[in-house]
Amino acid sequence: MNSDILIIGAGVAGLYTALKLAPRPVTVITARPLGKGGATPWAQGGLAAALGQDDTPNLHFADTMQAGAGLVDPEAASVLVDGGKRAVDDLLQYGVQFDRDEDGNLVLGREAAHCRDRIVHATGDQAGAAIMEALIRAARAAEHITILERIVVEDLLTDDNGVVGGALIYDVDAGERAAFDASETVLATGGLGGLYAVTTNPTPAQGHGLAFAARAGAVIRDPEFVQFHPTALNIGVDPAPLATEALRGAGAALVNKDGYAFMGDYHKSGDLGPRDIVARAVEAEIRAGRGAFLDARKAIGAKFPDAFPTVFAACQSAKIDPRKEPMPVAPAAHYHMGGVMTDIDGKSSIEGLWAVGEVASTGVHGANRLASNSLLEAIVFSARIADQLREKEITAPDEPGAPADRMDLPSKPADKKAMARLRAAMSNGCALIRDEDALLDVIDVIHELNEHPSMTSGLKSALVTAEIIAQGALMREESRGAHYRSDFPEADEQAFHTEICATDAYDEDDEE
Ligand SMILES: Cc1cc2nc3c(=O)[nH]c(=O)nc-3n(C[C@H](O)[C@H](O)[C@H](O)COP(=O)(O)OP(=O)(O)OC[C@H]3O[C@@H](n4cnc5c(N)ncnc54)[C@H](O)[C@@H]3O)c2cc1C
Repeated sequence: MNSDILIIGAGVAGLYTALKLAPRPVTVITARPLGKGGATPWAQGGLAAALGQDDTPNLHFADTMQAGAGLVDPEAASVLVDGGKRAVDDLLQYGVQFDRDEDGNLVLGREAAHCRDRIVHATGDQAGAAIMEALIRAARAAEHITILERIVVEDLLTDDNGVVGGALIYDVDAGERAAFDASETVLATGGLGGLYAVTTNPTPAQGHGLAFAARAGAVIRDPEFVQFHPTALNIGVDPAPLATEALRGAGAALVNKDGYAFMGDYHKSGDLGPRDIVARAVEAEIRAGRGAFLDARKAIGAKFPDAFPTVFAACQSAKIDPRKEPMPVAPAAHYHMGGVMTDIDGKSSIEGLWAVGEVASTGVHGANRLASNSLLEAIVFSARIADQLREKEITAPDEPGAPADRMDLPSKPADKKAMARLRAAMSNGCALIRDEDALLDVIDVIHELNEHPSMTSGLKSALVTAEIIAQGALMREESRGAHYRSDFPEADEQAFHTEICATDAYDEDDEE
């Protein structure tokens, strides 16, 4: 099997890249049926774009820089915010029905750390689903796109010079493994919250793409920056349903079990303070035994079912009526700011490999993602990759590639017990608040699991990514943005990036 251009992943990033490549032929591979397994359909809040009369891309830029705590690349952030209007216009062309007011203007919502109302929504809290529906419809109708569903990528193929030349794939229905040769490969495999026991992400989001890129020798940047969302519904469900920040944008308040609205004690912006600070405040209230709840009774009340149908349904499943009672909440692993380092056009540090969406580190998020910048990032940078590849003269690789990590493991999902152990270790040690001892404990668990008798390709990739996060967190002996080390609570004067290139470690192993 082969294709000039191969895209791994069919969330917003993979599908939008494929659509923008027209008329260049492209193959998109996805592990699950289209629309399943990724985070995009779960996105609630929406997409950030400076569209209001009182707003400008410069203001959006300033908020993005501020949230990223010294690590946002200004060039990447400029590209991001300048692309906001075009992204929304283009999604409207694809048929996404963003919410409008009675005069037909787009409704713009507020989320934390945005100085203006700038989040476009669809059906209240169903922006991701609306975007996916439109992109799937367009991709299925596009003649230049071939979509292969239920095909699991297990590794990248690289030639003797380290150039990526496609992927090692496993066809779930046929039960067969094969090489898929490609001259240019785009990773769009999404995030890694599924490595944590408490997460808002779909369980399959276990960072496999990041492991593939690392094994192939790509630089992974700032892996320690995992964003914990402050308000996952704490109703004992895995994954934890999200109570979108747009609820607080609409006036809902965080309170403890005594009904005290505590956020004013932690940040001057109160409930709409930066996400990391709100998450740590919620954690502190829970640890102090006071509990944390989101109270939407006054601000949203009877409008709740129509305004936030997804959150309302999740509450109902736990027999909670958010019109009449506060919702119990807790922080949960939500978004990965770090990832496969790319340049401004989405190219990774190795030949033949590009990365986009949550798996990428384009530089726009720094140490902390500004709410609703991720869907925008996926759209803006997908279009840039497509611009690079559409006209590129592509030559077939001289020789077929080999899996970067000599993959000879069974093609099965990770062993459930082993995964549960890894997820618990990550939630305990690579947590919202970390320290050296806790991180070393996580690495011990990862090393033990590396010897697991029924190792599979899925478990192996999960372990590689988990270790990269833990190593990044150990290397960063400071607290910045979403990374908080209780043993190094201050930020260093000079902001720096963590860069991990895993092939260095493998080479050292080989020499031993
Ligand atoms: C509950 C929730 C709410 C959110 N709300 C918002 C929001 O309001 N605004 C916002 O901007 N962001 C939000 N986010 C974040 C945002 O949804 C994601 O960052 C974004 O959708 C990621 O898109 P993606 O295309 O990179 O990955 P995904 O949509 O996760 O897609 C990944 C794709 O890769 C495939 N894949 C993965 N591994 C393999 C493999 N080994 N082989 C083959 N295929 C593979 C998957 O099957 C899937 O098709 C939210 C996230 C969550 C979880």
